Amino acid sequence: MAKCTQANAVISLSGDDQVVQRIPAGELKCFHVTKGVARANPSSGGERVRFADGNYVDKRLRGRTIWHKPLPNLSALRPEPGDEVLAWYGVSPVWALRQSSGLSVNIVSVPLPKLADGQPPFDYLNSESFIQVLPLLHFLRQVTAGSDWTRPPLRACLMFDDPNLHWTSYGFLPYQEVARQAKSCGFHVAFATIPFDTWFSHRRAVNLFRDNPELLSLLIHGNDHLRSELGRPRTPEGHLRMLAQGLRRVARLERTTGLCVARVMAPPHGAYADAALAAMLALGFEGVCISTGSLRNWNPHRQWSAAFGLEMAEMMEGFPVLPRFRLSASCEAQIIISAFLDRPIIPVGHHDTVADGLELLSRVAEVINSLGDVSWGSCEMMLHSNYLKFRGDATLWVKSYSSRILVTVPPGVTTIVLENPDKEDGFGVAGFRIAKGGDSAPHPTRLTAGEPISVKPGETVELVSQILGNVDYRRVKPRMLSVWAFSRRILCEGRDRLAPLIYRVRKRRVHNAG
Ligand SMILES: [Zn+2]
Repeated sequence: MAKCTQANAVISLSGDDQVVQRIPAGELKCFHVTKGVARANPSSGGERVRFADGNYVDKRLRGRTIWHKPLPNLSALRPEPGDEVLAWYGVSPVWALRQSSGLSVNIVSVPLPKLADGQPPFDYLNSESFIQVLPLLHFLRQVTAGSDWTRPPLRACLMFDDPNLHWTSYGFLPYQEVARQAKSCGFHVAFATIPFDTWFSHRRAVNLFRDNPELLSLLIHGNDHLRSELGRPRTPEGHLRMLAQGLRRVARLERTTGLCVARVMAPPHGAYADAALAAMLALGFEGVCISTGSLRNWNPHRQWSAAFGLEMAEMMEGFPVLPRFRLSASCEAQIIISAFLDRPIIPVGHHDTVADGLELLSRVAEVINSLGDVSWGSCEMMLHSNYLKFRGDATLWVKSYSSRILVTVPPGVTTIVLENPDKEDGFGVAGFRIAKGGDSAPHPTRLTAGEPISVKPGETVELVSQILGNVDYRRVKPRMLSVWAFSRRILCEGRDRLAPLIYRVRKRRVHNAG
């Protein structure tokens, strides 16, 4: 233990409390797992985890209470006088801070999980299960504070799948009222619209979106909106033609309305298999937005990195997948854990998610805004800012989690160096091109990770995956209109638009019967 005086931190997992007593006094930080004592009256169900309100706890967790799934054999800490309890599971303290003689010890009574071969830690660091891993991550962040990568600020949007611009509302979503609430409560709503639906746009709906780009934005939701559209097996040519048809339709919407649609795909029904990835990148889709669960379910044979679910996006051969989760009155835990992990916060729903009123949006936005400064905006904004940075004198190191990032060069910086987030699954495969000052022409030489780029302070440098948008959708062989897709979509839209009326009639009947 004497050698510990030369270290910054000690992690002790043996459960032997003698270890802490033998650590020499000094400016050491220590993380120690203790055996703890049996909990009194443990519940067989899950319990709430309550984080302390003190300054030591990360401000995104501070004072929060989040439900946690059952941990049957969990022990409790026996705090000593002077200990600051940082978290409780139910009423049992499970994480505490002990400080004496310069030594700062995080003590937890929750052992680290035993991961199966290839199992990602994400399985123990998500909105339902986190207390076995979160304290260690919290500790590591404290130890590396000041020498770690700087993350982007918290970013968020609320998202709805399916709405279109055929009218000034879609089902339970009156756009004018959504915009009014977004403005008064401070949030942004991204609508994943179906390319098939772009055959008509209502002028007032278009004007509302055009006049409020800071509040409302559009992204792409499949093409025809058929079941498992982006999950079903297709040839590479089949994927290309289907996606190019979607882009033709989106381009028509942009041409006729002047609106911009983010080149970000929200796959219908959460179905996205990585076989569609190459076609998307080639056609200029900058990323996908899907739940982490769906991503895993639709790609069961894919080998994920150990950091799966913990980074700002999953990178699949240089193609970013932004995480999203279900919008509901009980999504607070997901919001808080996403924020703690610096992941974009994207609660998503359908129009009937707000059948009981748009107040749900302001309530969820209030939880998100309570986390601190939040940048609300489109998925495009999130992808363009999806990078880590590290400043060293006149050099800025950048680690990208996107296919296109925009870096504003800080004062005093004359060189940018691009780091590869994952050498086997990142930009190292494709390389970058650079665009400066709106010049989108590809850089003549392929830029690879680690290669310095000369820059001027104040300019905005755009770093774009070399393979993004290499295929012009207009040159891809067109695809026939599917009669089945046409009939299905018309029927689905009719159902959605009639839903509020049916809901009101049913409610009145229940009320009268009561
Ligand atoms: Zn949909």
